[in-house]
Amino acid sequence: MRKSTQVEKGKSSRVTKSDAEWRQSLTPEQFHVTREHGTERAFSHPYSKEKREGMYRCVCCGAPLFSSDAKFDSGTGWPSFTDAKGSVITHEDTSHGMRRIEVRCANCDAHLGHVFPDGPGPTGMRYCINGCSLNLDADKNDGKSGT
Ligand SMILES: [Zn+2]
Repeated sequence: MRKSTQVEKGKSSRVTKSDAEWRQSLTPEQFHVTREHGTERAFSHPYSKEKREGMYRCVCCGAPLFSSDAKFDSGTGWPSFTDAKGSVITHEDTSHGMRRIEVRCANCDAHLGHVFPDGPGPTGMRYCINGCSLNLDADKNDGKSGT
């Protein structure tokens, strides 16, 4: 991935791009989920069954969002985590006649999914996340076939 060295003076490190710019760097599904608050179909993304260890990063900006340590098999068909990293923020979502807690990337406001208070311990939380909003940065030091 190209590393940008452009830093806008006087602004925070938050990533802000126009929809046109996001469309250029994301697939149509990634754009729909992260920028238009879409939801991928259950079991449609391989991350729902992903077992590799590593850091799940924001597909939009690369911020670390969830560790594989917190991932668990919720059976819902979406990648699920009991805990989130500091670059995840929550936001009340009252769309669709429900009161849910939306999960977003703090760095670029990407919509990631929702969090529910019915997860396993120790946090009791279930972060239900769209796989296409994530990019697994898999650990490569497992001693098996390297690159
Ligand atoms: Zn992001």
